[in-house]
Amino acid sequence: MLYKKIPGDPQARFYTSKCKYCGKPYIKFQNATKFCSDTCRYYSDLEHTEERVRKHRKNHSKTDNYWGLGTGYLHGTPKNDFEDEHAAIQSEYRRLKIPAK
Ligand SMILES: [Zn+2]
Repeated sequence: MLYKKIPGDPQARFYTSKCKYCGKPYIKFQNATKFCSDTCRYYSDLEHTEERVRKHRKNHSKTDNYWGLGTGYLHGTPKNDFEDEHAAIQSEYRRLKIPAK
């Protein structure tokens, strides 16, 4: 139906509903509306983003090697000082949980 629903129009359909964020009852003019105001929608979006990010981080921390094979903190160019290079290799062993020799 191509009928533009205007709030205040007696012909407009409206529904009463509870806001999904603050829980207050309000009148809505579109069935898909879930929040009483833009502020409630904004804060609800923020909370859901937080939740989603937390879930994502939790899922990825479960995998032992998040960055995949073939990556490490050792670079192509070795350090000039042998002691420094040795320390870097030792710390890489610890990071990758490989028993050091
Ligand atoms: Zn609300």
